[in-house]
Amino acid sequence: MCLSRRIHFYHRSNRDGTTESICSRCFLRVAREFQASELARYEIAHVCDPAKVFDVSQNAEATASGLRAG
Ligand SMILES: [Zn+2]
Repeated sequence: MCLSRRIHFYHRSNRDGTTESICSRCFLRVAREFQASELARYEIAHVCDPAKVFDVSQNAEATASGLRAG
């Protein structure tokens, strides 16, 4: 398992004016702030839940092998 790959975060704007940062590897919500610029400090400190990353990578591999086979 490779945990050194760079993590990306999705930013989602909410009706209440906040912006959420969601990890693209473990899909946990890392932070929710009114100032999107504040999200970076939470993203830097984020550590993925290994169990969730494993599940996601298993699904990605299954999808990739399905694409190769088809
Ligand atoms: Zn994560």
